[in-house]
Amino acid sequence: MRQTEADLNLRVPVPVNRKLLTAHSLLFLILGVTSLQAQQRHINVLDYNLTLTLPDVGSTIDGVAVITMKRLAKGGAADTLALDLLDLRVKSVALGARDVSFAHTGGVLRIPIAGAADSLQVTVTYGGAVKDGLIISSDSAGRWRGFGDNWPNRGRHWIPSVDHPSDKATVIWTVIAPSDRKVVANGALVEETVLPAKEDPDGHAGAPIVMRRTTWREPNPIPVYLMVIAAAPLVEYPLGNTACGFGPGGSCVPQMVYTMPEQRRILPGDFREADSVLTFFGRLFGPFPYAKLAHVQSLTRFGGMENAGAIFYSDRAFRTTGVSYGLLAHEVAHQWFGDAVTEHEWSHAWLSEGFATYLAAMYTEKSRGDSAFRAQMSGVRNTVFNAPVVANRPVIDTIETNLMAMLNANSYQKGGFVLHMLREEIGDSAFVRGARAYQAKYRHGTAFSDQLRAEFEASSGRDLKPFFAQWLTRPGFAEVDATWIHDAATGTLSLKVAQGGKHGTFAFPLTVEYADATGALKRVRLAVPSQAESTLRVATAVRARPAQLRIDPDVALLARITER
Ligand SMILES: [Zn+2]
Repeated sequence: MRQTEADLNLRVPVPVNRKLLTAHSLLFLILGVTSLQAQQRHINVLDYNLTLTLPDVGSTIDGVAVITMKRLAKGGAADTLALDLLDLRVKSVALGARDVSFAHTGGVLRIPIAGAADSLQVTVTYGGAVKDGLIISSDSAGRWRGFGDNWPNRGRHWIPSVDHPSDKATVIWTVIAPSDRKVVANGALVEETVLPAKEDPDGHAGAPIVMRRTTWREPNPIPVYLMVIAAAPLVEYPLGNTACGFGPGGSCVPQMVYTMPEQRRILPGDFREADSVLTFFGRLFGPFPYAKLAHVQSLTRFGGMENAGAIFYSDRAFRTTGVSYGLLAHEVAHQWFGDAVTEHEWSHAWLSEGFATYLAAMYTEKSRGDSAFRAQMSGVRNTVFNAPVVANRPVIDTIETNLMAMLNANSYQKGGFVLHMLREEIGDSAFVRGARAYQAKYRHGTAFSDQLRAEFEASSGRDLKPFFAQWLTRPGFAEVDATWIHDAATGTLSLKVAQGGKHGTFAFPLTVEYADATGALKRVRLAVPSQAESTLRVATAVRARPAQLRIDPDVALLARITER
């Protein structure tokens, strides 16, 4: 995801509008109270089979959710199934074929399941006026549009669910909507059928509304926050069969853009790079995880939202500047990191956002070259230096309870820069093999940061506990005062490194570059220990002090360096 529409939801690096973020955070503190626990370890949802009937006008929907699950425990609290559902009214609940009693208070639907088998199916029939999660509005031409927008825990406003990233499930969407709306969702299209015309139920004069039933199916487990539909008068712009050889099972990946009719003329724009972005990531990290990839003009409050197989972009991006290749690369990277492998707890959100931030920069490196890549990483690093949250909290932040506040410079920019340093530390080959192994092992499941670390340790043969602990469980970054001392008699160059300050001391490799006697540039990598002062010797064999001395020439270290 990138932070917002109002500049806060582009779940990638866009300046955060503090005022809006604050207002928004407050809203979440008020509304999101129940959203933060909701982890039911005694059941595992396997599948949501969701049928929604959408209105011609207004925001009242009817829904039937058939939820298949497995019980992991019995007795006590495990004999009550608790599903998250806000705002809407539950009409009936059936356990298997049998209607059962239920209680629906405080945004939680409680259903007694004592005596039920280990595998069970619950049918919830519900409806009402949707307030969030499914964003409904009419545009200036009066056209009804509805778009799912669930991150982080807003799926519960319209889907009875275990609304937590640790419980991934497959989903089938069946949407019955007026036939002038195109319905797009996760997964593959199963059917699109125009239904026999019915009279207007309100008895109004005029032509009856023709409805169409559209079914999409995602056969791989995804978290509720990625389960979406789009229903609007969208038109399709095909991007063709892309990334051939890098789709599931070595197939191609059909990609397409869905826009409002007026915006179709701005296409393809940067979507012309969609093939090369997908191919690049597929080559590095393994097959694209889903059957197709749709790019959808939507009403997401974020700049972009990485819904599995159906990326939603802000309406404004399409109406003004178009979608940039950087935003595209960020959201596509999420299909692997965040979607296929999901953080098990929100405190590990950097496993999504750090990867998406860094992989978008890696795509810049591939497509625009080294200096563009360095410039991008320098921008990422400056954001880290200037973010109060970085100074106060670690990347893996186990005490933040406001989920919207997790969309910060720790999850995105610092997380991304940590991956950059890791790649520098273990080398390109071990970096790619580790990330690829992590993808293969946890694909369609969930993971913690330590599980990522274990894969990089296996690929590099290194103990990475100190590296992960230093950069992910401590606030801040290195602050370095560097002083060059040249001994003309011996030709020895020494670098005096002082560190400490606000964030304490760090251990890191430091690359220095100097010009030798012939003027040729040489590089040396120095191991700086985690101590307040250290002096490192560089045997240059240069009699005069080198005219050119550079510290960290590749923007490879998360350190604010002052040279004296
Ligand atoms: Zn993102």
